[in-house]
Amino acid sequence: MRTRAAVLYEPKQALAIEELEVLPPRAGEVLVRYVASGVCHSDLHVIQGLMEWRTPVVLGHEGGGVVEAVGPGVSTVQVGDHVLTSYQPSCGRCPYCTIGRPNLCDLRDAPRFTMPDGTTRFRKGDREIFHFFQVSSYAERAVLPEHSVIPIRKDAPLDVVCLVSCGVMAGAGAVINRAHVQPGSSVAVFGCGGVGLNAIQAAALVGAGKIIAVDVFDQKLEWSREFGATHLVNARREDPVARIQQICGRGGADYAIEAIGRPETIDQAFRSVHRGGTVVVVGVAPAGTKLSLDPLLLLQDRALLGTSFGSARQRVDLPLFVDLFMQGKYKLRELISRQIGLDELNHAYELLERGEVRRSVVRYPS
Ligand SMILES: [Zn+2]
Ligand SMILES: [Zn+2]
Repeated sequence: MRTRAAVLYEPKQALAIEELEVLPPRAGEVLVRYVASGVCHSDLHVIQGLMEWRTPVVLGHEGGGVVEAVGPGVSTVQVGDHVLTSYQPSCGRCPYCTIGRPNLCDLRDAPRFTMPDGTTRFRKGDREIFHFFQVSSYAERAVLPEHSVIPIRKDAPLDVVCLVSCGVMAGAGAVINRAHVQPGSSVAVFGCGGVGLNAIQAAALVGAGKIIAVDVFDQKLEWSREFGATHLVNARREDPVARIQQICGRGGADYAIEAIGRPETIDQAFRSVHRGGTVVVVGVAPAGTKLSLDPLLLLQDRALLGTSFGSARQRVDLPLFVDLFMQGKYKLRELISRQIGLDELNHAYELLERGEVRRSVVRYPS
């Protein structure tokens, strides 16, 4: 079977939009016809060479599609099911899955530039093309492990709810699952892009009192108001830590979410919460980044936490955000700036780098 796909041959090169062959799904695998894919920042790290990955690779990890075929032994999805991708797989059986932390599943220990059996399903002539987190949503069709697809309701528009598969889950999950933000509390969010806007929206959803958006782009700060930010801080013009302390009193915010992945902003987030406060880092730092923090701040019961995939329980949380959207309780359409074709992907990443878009969504021809 043929598919169009966006292939990264070497870091720092443009994505090649071309036709590949897709081999049929093997045991425990699923063939998905993608309807849409969000354009997330993490793929850009690979394109820029800031995150190592085996190349050539079909990138993309925020996909929504329809199951077209299943391999032997697949039992959790069937042909025709609508699915979201989960770039963190969950087996349902390992210790992490069993204690309710399936985002940390043991399956993560295996390399995910191939299928679980160590082989690939994309070919360009005789050449193997690798997978991205076993998901590769920058393709009209891809083979995924069963453990990486989450069935959702069929009445939800896949070209909108695909955003749940990374940006929504990362931002909202940091607030709800990891920080456990309480009603009436104060939350500072550093970085108001695709992930930060969801942290802001989730903070509003759970009833946070003060929601302080921090960014260096005025336009992004304006967007954040639409999702529930109560205070806007441009960190280029004022010291965000001092300003947050002033807004919140009591030495700072109850919670801070860092959605940028820079040592400077992680340090600022850490200093912007009062003693006993909680900081969650969602931002993806380039490989090799090191942090320098004042350890005395930890002795005042501050918690510095990380999160992966919004600490999602994938099979519960992904359908949950789809439901919230369908019930009109969670904004997703407003997160989308542009719908594009696969051909426009390189341009979409230029816009993302310049901070000019919320999310672009690749829409595949049906
Ligand atoms: Zn992502
Ligand atoms: Zn597991």
